[in-house]
Amino acid sequence: MAWVTSSAWRCSAPSPAIPGDGGPRPDRHQCNRDTRRSPGAAAMIIVVSGPGGVGKGTVVRRLIAGDPGLWLSRSWTTRAPRPGEASDAYEFVTRSRFEQRIEAGGFLEYAEFLGDLYGTPVPEDVDGSDLLLEIDVQGAAQVAERYPEALLVLLVTPSDEVQRQRLEARGDTPDQVARRMAKAAEEIAAATALGAHVVVNDDLDDAVAELAAVIDAARRSR
Ligand code: 5GP
Repeated sequence: MAWVTSSAWRCSAPSPAIPGDGGPRPDRHQCNRDTRRSPGAAAMIIVVSGPGGVGKGTVVRRLIAGDPGLWLSRSWTTRAPRPGEASDAYEFVTRSRFEQRIEAGGFLEYAEFLGDLYGTPVPEDVDGSDLLLEIDVQGAAQVAERYPEALLVLLVTPSDEVQRQRLEARGDTPDQVARRMAKAAEEIAAATALGAHVVVNDDLDDAVAELAAVIDAARRSR
């Protein structure tokens, strides 16, 4: 298992294209000092991805609560908060503020997902913990490209029907449910191609335990 060191934490590639956004952003990656140095000396990068409704947030919250060695990144998004969503679920920002941060090289990765931008700010204070990212598969692919030994995990629901029920239960509109369901098949194929570990979130306790075991195995092998 490789570690995120100052030398590994480099920024040699142009800003990634925003998939679905008409191609590459203007070439303004300019890799500033903040993106070159280690993000507060993070140890391992762990990426948890999965289709909408799979319960990533719940699984990740449980995992973090039981593992002080994990540091969860808080993403930026241009999406509006959902009714009842915690105000700190994301850094909710305007599109222009998000784009300013892209221009400044302030994201580790970012992607457009169903019309909104989501991104991981370059972390500053990980301080020896393992950096946990809960991001979509496009973002996972960017992380894998820059840090090939990052640990990739794909959470899936036991069936499409369960996914649909979970999306409806959290208040997605019928249109949002349809779009997220259609996107899911694409995401699962892409994550599988990246070699992600697949964890089925049927029973929450089991899913958390399995994810913890995958992380534990990765830590032991480093
Ligand atoms: P939601 O709108 O349901 O909160 O998130 C939509 C998708 O964006 C989910 O797959 C979620 O994991 C992903 N996402 C959240 N934060 C980030 C991020 O920082 N970067 C990327 N690439 N995807 C993110």
